[in-house]
Amino acid sequence: MHTKLATGLLASVVLLQGCALENPKKTEVDIKNPVGDSLGIITIQEQASGVELDMDLVGLPPGVHAIHIHELGKCEPPDFESAGNHFNPEDKEHGLLHPKGAHAGDLPNLIVEDDGSFKGQIMAPLVTLSKGAASLFTKEGTSIVINEGQDDGMSQPAGDSGKRIACGEITSEKEKE
Ligand code: ZN
Repeated sequence: MHTKLATGLLASVVLLQGCALENPKKTEVDIKNPVGDSLGIITIQEQASGVELDMDLVGLPPGVHAIHIHELGKCEPPDFESAGNHFNPEDKEHGLLHPKGAHAGDLPNLIVEDDGSFKGQIMAPLVTLSKGAASLFTKEGTSIVINEGQDDGMSQPAGDSGKRIACGEITSEKEKE
C-alpha cells in the first residue's frame, strides 16, 4: 500500500516535469535583412512580467525604428509581408499610446546607434512563452519585424512605421515537428 502510493507520487512528479519541458522558456531569434544577411540575435526569455527581448544587433540604419512581434512565423524577403499583421490575440487597436490599444506585439521604438548597432533589452508584458492565448509559440509561429521608420504609437494599423527592413522567425522546436 505504502509502496503503491510512493510510486504514484513519483509518476506525478515526472509528468509535471514533462509538461514544463514541452516548450523552451528561452529561444534565439536570428534577425535577417532583405538580402538574407544576419543582423544578429534577439534572445527571448520568459520572465515574471512577460517576455524579455535581449537584443544584440548590427547593420541597421542609425536612428529610431519601430519593432513589433508579428502574427505569422514566416520571414520571406524582400518585403517580409509574409509575417502578417502585428500579433494581436486580444483584438485590440494598434499603439502603445492608443486608448483602445495595444496589440500584444506592440513594443517601444529602438534607438539605433550611429554605428548601426543596438544592444539592450525591452519587455513585451502582454505575451508569454508558456501555453495560452498570448503564447508566441503558435501553430503558425510568430516573428519579430523591424521597420524603416518609427512607430507613432497611435496610427492604424501599424503606427505609420514604414517598410519592413528586418525579420526573424520565432519557432519552438516542438512546433517544427
Ligand atoms: Zn500594433
